[in-house]
Amino acid sequence: MTIAARGACPKLAAPMPTGDGLLARLVLAGPMPLKALAGLCAAARTHGNGTMEISARGSLQIRGLTPATAPRFADRVSALGIDISDGVPVLADPLPGDPTALIDPHVLAAEIRHAIASAALPLAPKVSVIVDGGGRLHLDALAADIRVRAATTPNGPLHIALAGDGATASPLGAVPPDEACDAVLRLLASIAAHGPEARAADMLRSGGIAAFQGAIRTPIALEPPPPPRLPAEMVGVHGLKDDLYALGAGLAFGHAQGQTLRALTEVARAHGALWAQPAPDRALLLGPFKRTKIRTIRDEARRLGFAVDAADPRRRVVACPGAPTCASGLIAARSLAAEIAASVPFAGGGVAVHVSGCAKGCAHPSPAPLTIVGTAQGAGLVRNATARAAPSCYVSEAEVAAAVEELSAREPAHA
Ligand code: SF4
Repeated sequence: MTIAARGACPKLAAPMPTGDGLLARLVLAGPMPLKALAGLCAAARTHGNGTMEISARGSLQIRGLTPATAPRFADRVSALGIDISDGVPVLADPLPGDPTALIDPHVLAAEIRHAIASAALPLAPKVSVIVDGGGRLHLDALAADIRVRAATTPNGPLHIALAGDGATASPLGAVPPDEACDAVLRLLASIAAHGPEARAADMLRSGGIAAFQGAIRTPIALEPPPPPRLPAEMVGVHGLKDDLYALGAGLAFGHAQGQTLRALTEVARAHGALWAQPAPDRALLLGPFKRTKIRTIRDEARRLGFAVDAADPRRRVVACPGAPTCASGLIAARSLAAEIAASVPFAGGGVAVHVSGCAKGCAHPSPAPLTIVGTAQGAGLVRNATARAAPSCYVSEAEVAAAVEELSAREPAHA
């Protein structure tokens, strides 16, 4: 077993040291059978400390492994038959069989993964690709080096954009679907040719979009970029084909205990579900359910502590593990997040409060209306900036809840 190098992404075969042991990150290549998820939850308890996380990008993370147990955990994952994508992350929309998608993004994503593995390109560890089928649970919120999006008609041209999220990526043009894999591979080869640390954003900065236009063999159609979309909401009930449904359950602040996740898995299985798919924004999709089962499964998931309503105030609070789970944590970020969730301030949608164990701001690198950051002087309060900004004032951990309540009284969530 190897340990993830500094700056590299933790993988199943190369977990990363953290304050509570080794962390393995699993990027799934597709939905996993519920039986496999139940086995994974059991393995997380046997070989790790039982804490499981789903990240903002929809990766599954297992905490508290040790150098002795990590290889056994990896063997168990392999025995469970879970389809892991351990190479360059190629993310596709999370909802299996989304009836609103224009293409099946998983087919193209699998083709791209295979092509990347065969080409063995020397890419930087964080290079990633997004294949967006154009469905409702899209991936606009996630940044990637290369984005491929179905945007017009079923099996119509696929739009390619570079270096950014759905709003900020630079459009390159459109290619026919059967040439998309080759185009992505050539773009990746072009990035790799700029050095082992190169990213699409670096190439854009130095050479502009022209640096990529010559990389593609297929003439690229210079179409206008697809229109912006409303943000995707992973939590809630999502329609599938044939009057079947999926439930998106949010993990409170991105984590759950293995036994709790297993309990949810067992309830879902008992109500006829077959698969689970970790999704961006710290959610888990489960399905398919008959219409008559939806209410029960929602109630059960809520009872187990999962967020099943998009309006759940915990969805507006982002927190990293913080102390003592992360060795760099100066405040207990997740405990504080749970304390303040009931009095989240600021009207509107999206993240309202970011609780960060230290100034690194892993859980939310962007600005938030309020950031509570761990510092040597206590919990620093930062308005409309990131965890790296200088706090305007400091309070003790015990005073954080009162400070948030005071702010909430001045700027309530429901103005
Ligand atoms: S922000 Fe700091 S405390 Fe939180 S996970 Fe990152 S390094 Fe650890």
